[in-house]
Formats: sequence, structure tokens, C-alpha cells
Amino acid sequence: MQMICKASSAMAALPSNSKVRSGVCVWPGMGQLCLRKGLLYGFMRLLSTPFKTLRLASRTLRVAQFCSVSSVSSSLQIELVPCLRDNYAYLLHDVDTGTVGVVDPSESVPVINALSKKNRNLTYILNTHHHHDHTGGNAELKARYGAKVIGSGIDRDRIPGIDIVLNDGDKWMFAGHEVHVIDTPGHTQGHISFYFPKSGVIFTGDTLFSLSCGKLFEGTPEEMLSSLQKITSLPDNTDIYCGHEYTLSNAKFALSIEPNNEALQSYAAHVAHLRNKGLPTIPTALKLEKLCNPFLRTSSTEIRQSLGIPATANDAEALGVIRRAKDKF
Ligand SMILES: [Zn+2]
Repeated sequence: MQMICKASSAMAALPSNSKVRSGVCVWPGMGQLCLRKGLLYGFMRLLSTPFKTLRLASRTLRVAQFCSVSSVSSSLQIELVPCLRDNYAYLLHDVDTGTVGVVDPSESVPVINALSKKNRNLTYILNTHHHHDHTGGNAELKARYGAKVIGSGIDRDRIPGIDIVLNDGDKWMFAGHEVHVIDTPGHTQGHISFYFPKSGVIFTGDTLFSLSCGKLFEGTPEEMLSSLQKITSLPDNTDIYCGHEYTLSNAKFALSIEPNNEALQSYAAHVAHLRNKGLPTIPTALKLEKLCNPFLRTSSTEIRQSLGIPATANDAEALGVIRRAKDKF
């Protein structure tokens, strides 16, 4: 694992006063801002996760993240591409081969702009599920680049342009990077997550968000609990790239039902600070989510007392109550 900060070069390339859509270098004077936010973020995360190793701590500084590209392994780069109102698509770039994939392109234009800026082609489109705000760019990107569309076999009739069907437990290779396909139903029946074990990253679509989980459109609390448990069984230092920037509103709900959770208080303050500056809260780290995300904390006494969940209720029942409360929040 190593981080490569491309902050200064990325910023130097920016015209002043410009708004660059793909990524987060959107202000003049980002040099100092990047550094300050990176250091603050690292400090806050150290505070909220006191048991991290030094090696992990250095990873959490994430200075590069604020300039849109992070290297999660020596050869895999991930770029956040804001789409629509609050979606993220993610560009995956294998440095060794130049292969590029995109996860959940809600729309084509921001993705095309991000690719054009670096004169890159697009080989793969990975979809976590069929919803339009995750697949809306499929057709145009496929037509323009000849990219192959990848999705769940369960969604073969619902994902536009699907070429490669993957199922739970499948291992697929992205330019030499092994990708584990994990069925994570609950939000939709055909929902899958893409886990890159060597890089320690997972793309969770609308299953696990920072401080929340997806709405149960097609699944039960039991299915969502099982999906979340598959994700929480991964290493604690796994980075989570989810489909939406919902963290600030999720934090308000989480605090309303677990106000005395100090890790949550600290993270919520950090999230508010980031969002005030227009910076992303993604990726989040699995260990942080376990400490703060109410949907991963169904056994919390405080949450159960806040929502009147009896001590005898099982975790799925508790998750159902928390989800219904969040839907009404
Ligand atoms: Zn969705």
C-alpha cells in the first residue's frame, strides 16, 4: 500500500477561479487548503480510531484524495467523478497497462470530461445495480468507447448494455487486479459489490454508505443485514467507495439516535467541516463505520433505547426499525 500525492501538480494545472467538475480541486489557492484538510482529516481519523497502526495512519492522511486521484496500490488509481446531484462515479486506472474502468456512471458527460482531460480510453463499465442513477451513462459510454458493461446475472435484463455477467463469489480480473464479486442484496435484489482485496477497496453502490445503508426497495432487513455482514467481515482497513455523498444528512440521523457515541460525534464534526468546504467524505474506512454507522451497530444499547427496540429483538429486527426511522427522518 502506498499513497502518491499528486496535489501540487494537479493544482498547478488549474486555472484560478475555475470549477473543475471531475474531482474536488475546485477553488483557487488549493495548495494550502489541500495540505490543511489532509492533515486535519488524518488527525481526526487518528482520534476516532486510536488503534490504527502507524502504517495505516499514514494512509489516512489522504492528501491526494482532495485532488481527486488516490493511488490505493502501486498501480491502481481511483478518481472520484461527481455526477448528478449527489452521486459518485469512480474511474479506475491501472497505471501499468493504462486500462480504465468506471464504476456506476450515473451520466456520461462528467466521465467523458474526466477521461478526455487525461486522454484516456474506457474499457469497462462496472455496475453495482440497475438503478438509473448508477447506469444512466452506460449506453453513451459504451457507444463512444466500446466499453464492456459488467453487472449481476440477476440484473441481466435491467442493466443497459450488459455484456459480462458476474455472480456471487466470482473472481474477475481488472488489468491484473483480482476483483471479488459479492452479492449484497437488500436495496435491490441484483445488487453486487466489487472488492479489490490486494488494494483493500470495495465499491458498495447503494448497500453501505458512510453512516447509513441503502433503502430497502426490493429486500428485507434480514437480506440487508446479511449483505452488511459480508462487508464488515472484510479487513478493518478496507476503504469503502459508495454511490452517494449522503454522509452529512446520515450523520444527523445517526447522532439523533446515538448522541453519546464519541467516535460518531468526532466524525460528524469532521464530515460537517469537509462538506462546508465542498470536499468529499468518500472513501470512508470500514473500521470507522463500525464505530459510527448505526446500521452496523444494531446491538448498541443507546440506539435500541432511542428507538424503543426491545433487548430481545434480533439484529435484523433492530435494523428494520432503524431503517424505518431513517426513512421518516
Ligand atoms: Zn440505487
